[in-house]
Amino acid sequence: MIHGAGKLRRWPISGAWFLSVLIVINGCSSFVPPSLPSLPSLGPPTEDDEVRISREFRREAKKQFKFVNNPEVERYMDRIGQRILSAMGPQPFDYRFFVVEDSQLNAFAVPGGTIYMYSGLIERAKSTDEIAGVLGHEITHIKGHHMARSSGPDAISVLSLLSMVLLARSGSGAQAAGAVGQAVSATRQIAYSRQLEMEADTLGVRYMAAAGYDPKGSLGFLKTLDQERALNPVDVPPYLMTHPISQERVANMEQVLRSLGKTEVRSEQPDPLKKVQIIIRMERHDGDVVVGEYEKLVRQNPQSAELLQLLGFAQQLKGQLAEAQKNYEKAQQLNPNNAGLQRDLGRLYTQLGNTASAGPAFDRALALEPKEALTYLYLGELFEKQGDLRSAAGAYLNANNFSPLWDKPPYRLGVVYGKLNRLGDAYYYLGRSFLLQDEDQKAIADFERALKLVGENSPRGQLIKEELTTLRARRR
Ligand SMILES: [Zn+2]
Repeated sequence: MIHGAGKLRRWPISGAWFLSVLIVINGCSSFVPPSLPSLPSLGPPTEDDEVRISREFRREAKKQFKFVNNPEVERYMDRIGQRILSAMGPQPFDYRFFVVEDSQLNAFAVPGGTIYMYSGLIERAKSTDEIAGVLGHEITHIKGHHMARSSGPDAISVLSLLSMVLLARSGSGAQAAGAVGQAVSATRQIAYSRQLEMEADTLGVRYMAAAGYDPKGSLGFLKTLDQERALNPVDVPPYLMTHPISQERVANMEQVLRSLGKTEVRSEQPDPLKKVQIIIRMERHDGDVVVGEYEKLVRQNPQSAELLQLLGFAQQLKGQLAEAQKNYEKAQQLNPNNAGLQRDLGRLYTQLGNTASAGPAFDRALALEPKEALTYLYLGELFEKQGDLRSAAGAYLNANNFSPLWDKPPYRLGVVYGKLNRLGDAYYYLGRSFLLQDEDQKAIADFERALKLVGENSPRGQLIKEELTTLRARRR
């Protein structure tokens, strides 16, 4: 949640921020400097500025990157991120996590709470604990305002490009877009100082351990990176360029692990990373290979509930629904208490049109894991398929409540309310969904439509008026 406590934070390179904006303007011929009186801020970037930087960055990143939009993958990242954040106490930012569809091994953080992880990194990770290690590290860069604290030619120019985002309100649209575009390119390969990297390693592993992830995952990921370097010495992954593995880093990590002692590890079993890796590989059209691999693994180990589930999952994604059902049901007999498996079963039965079996499967999933937004999203799909739109809306509302920064539940709510002819609610939730996608213009248009329909004095009307005030205030 956003609060104002950090606004008085001092920036160590005081005064340099304004200066660095000018350096970039002078140093880069593609910028025409906006006139000085319209500069939005002369002081160091506040946390509000960082929030704005994140928002503009996300808008530009949508044009430059292709994202993995699968709901399983989105929830996977958000679950890990939110779990780490909740172990860290109140935060000044709404953190957002994205998976970029790109086979390179990379991840980076943007000031103001936005983190991008490449699918190539997820594919090479060996456990969710390793992913949590990377997220803990990147969250620390944001929490510690490392970009603002950076010095040196690279860091300064990246920060300057990001500060151009703040000029966007006063400069022309084209200038601003050019600046943000360059900022996106530069930020994905930013290298922080050795000292800031050590800080991110040290605190990142503490945060992820406090969240119940195995801190050895952080060291494990360093080793994964090192193997990658040994395997492919010519084509060095971007993450290794920005995060070189040094003896010092490894020794520091080992020292932190020793100081942490034995921590309480609460891993999800089976590790949900495998499913996410299957989705990423299937989206790249490796379907036959993936199914073949899991068929072989199941032949070698026919009593493994996890392998049966994963084979079924790959088959389901490939459209081999009858085979998937057989393997899921076998897995369920071996391990009936797996929420993820029950959810997969519910979804498969929905696809098969077996709605009588789908409902109880989702009920079992929710009994085991009552607050999972993904289960409610799929339950809503089942209700829609049954023509029970009121129950569908109820399920999507729960999904929205349990994962309030996820754009998919409000979108579905908007569609369902539209079908129910509750147009005020429909436009309100469509507006919410656009807001979460950083589509301010569309959000404003839908909120305005909603406001006309529900009336300014209704409780929802009051809420919409507040949303509109915030949105208009940040419009350039
Ligand atoms: Zn780093």
